[in-house]
Amino acid sequence: KKTIGVLSVQGAFEEHIKMLEQLDVNCLEIRKKTDLTGHTIDGLVLPGGESTVIGKLIRELDLFTPLKTLIEADMPVLGTCAGLILLAGRIADVETIHLGTMDITARRNAYGRQLGSFQTDEAFDALGKIPMVFIRAPYIESVGEKVEVLARVDNHIVAAKQDHMIVTSFHPELTNSLTVHRYFLNLI
Ligand code: GLN
Repeated sequence: KKTIGVLSVQGAFEEHIKMLEQLDVNCLEIRKKTDLTGHTIDGLVLPGGESTVIGKLIRELDLFTPLKTLIEADMPVLGTCAGLILLAGRIADVETIHLGTMDITARRNAYGRQLGSFQTDEAFDALGKIPMVFIRAPYIESVGEKVEVLARVDNHIVAAKQDHMIVTSFHPELTNSLTVHRYFLNLI
């Protein structure tokens, strides 16, 4: 069985664990440094939540460097919503970036206030339409050469892949579709 570390300091980590458990993997909640150093994991999930809060907590809990080191050493990672923002190499109109391992520019709260939350069905890579739930979501404003676009909604990029890193601006863990999690596990 594969073991997936799920960053569990804030946000929708429980929902990710419920999805992953349906796909027959072990989940390890990552809350402190020794959760990462003391265990062998095969992949990482960075959930949605509030990127400023998660970014602050991973620094305070000494998780920042171990997470960045693992990802830079090709650990497969799935970042959803705030997790996308954590992985973005650039955040539009914001100076502080977080793990910054992916060659994308994210725009936070990109849908404005009126469209704070919405749901739609769009194609995800070659896998057909899947339900996508957006909650105060970012989108990807631009991507570097090595990045593959996996999904768009209204011409904005909402999912992308760069080598071992996958990001979605929507919440696959809040739907009943296991497509994105399965896609991620197939990378491992
Ligand atoms: N708006 C949040 C942020 O900027 C992301 C929202 C989410 O993860 N659902 O971090």
